[in-house]
Amino acid sequence: MIVYRTKNDLSLHLDAIRKSGKSIGLVPTMGALHKGHTSLVEKAAGENGALVVTIFVNPTQFNDPADLEAYPRNLDKDLEILQSMKVDIVFVPSVKEMYPEEDKRSFDLGNLDKVMEGKHRKDHFNGVAQIVSKLFETVKPDRAYFGQKDFQQLIIVRHLVDLLNLDITIVACPIIREVDGLAMSSRNIMLNTEDRNLAPFIHITLQLAREKRGFLAPAEVKSWVISQFENQPRMKLEYFEIVEDKALQHVNDWGEKVNKVGCIAVQLGGVRLIDNLFFD
Ligand code: AMP
Repeated sequence: MIVYRTKNDLSLHLDAIRKSGKSIGLVPTMGALHKGHTSLVEKAAGENGALVVTIFVNPTQFNDPADLEAYPRNLDKDLEILQSMKVDIVFVPSVKEMYPEEDKRSFDLGNLDKVMEGKHRKDHFNGVAQIVSKLFETVKPDRAYFGQKDFQQLIIVRHLVDLLNLDITIVACPIIREVDGLAMSSRNIMLNTEDRNLAPFIHITLQLAREKRGFLAPAEVKSWVISQFENQPRMKLEYFEIVEDKALQHVNDWGEKVNKVGCIAVQLGGVRLIDNLFFD
C-alpha cells in the first residue's frame, strides 16, 4: 500500500495505471473508518483494476469550527484497516495541499442544497462540491463510491458530475448499520454510553413512520415523528422530511409515482446524527 500526501505524486502513479488500461475506483472518506466505509472499499476493489481511498477532513464543509475541531481522527488505525484490506493507494493530503489558496468557487446546486442538510448546515454542500471536484480532478476515477447514509450528498454529487460534465460513474452503496439498527458513523464514538443506548431510537422511529404509510398522509407521518421526539428530552430533532429521490422535493401524497425517502437529522448529547430510509 502506498500512502501519498501530494496531488502530484498521486497523479503520476495514476497516469501509469491508466496507461496500463486499468480502471480506477475512488472512495473519498474523512477517516475514522468503520464498516460503512469498508463496505464501499470492498465494492470498489471488486469493480476496478486499481483503487484509491482518500482520507481528508475537509474544512470547507464544516459550518461550525467546534464541530471540525471535535471530528474524530485516527489515521494510524485507518491505515492499518486499509492495509489489511490490501488497498493499493491511499491519499492523505494536508489542508494546504488541497487548498493552497482559498477556494472561492460557488456551485450551482439548484434546489438540492436548499433543503434538509443544506438548510441546517449553511454552505456545507458547497464545501462538499469543492472537495469532491478537486478529488475528481486529481484522481480522474472511472467510478466513485458514495454511501446512501449521506443521501442528500449522494444526489448532490450526481448533480455535480452532470454540472461539470465529467465521465465518472457514481456508485451508491447501501447503509451499513450496527446490530441495533443505528447507522454506522464516525461520529458514533462521540456518544456517551447513555446516548449510544438511546441512538437506535432514530432508526426505529423511521421504521415505524414507514409503517404508518398505510393510514396517515405524509404530512401526518411527519407530525407523528415530531411528536415522538418531543418525548425524548435528550434528543433534538433537526428535521424529518419525506422527499422524492431525484430533486429532493417534498412528497405530499403517497400516490405520487416517485421513490420516497424519509430523511432525518437529530442532535443527541451534542452529536449530530443523520439517517434515512426508503419508504416504498
Ligand atoms: P465520511 O467519512 O463520513 O465522509 O463518509 C465517507 C463515505 O462513506 C461517504 O460516501 C458516506 O456516505 C459513506 N458512509 C459513511 N457511513 C456509512 C454507512 N453507515 N453505510 C454506508 N456508507 C457510509
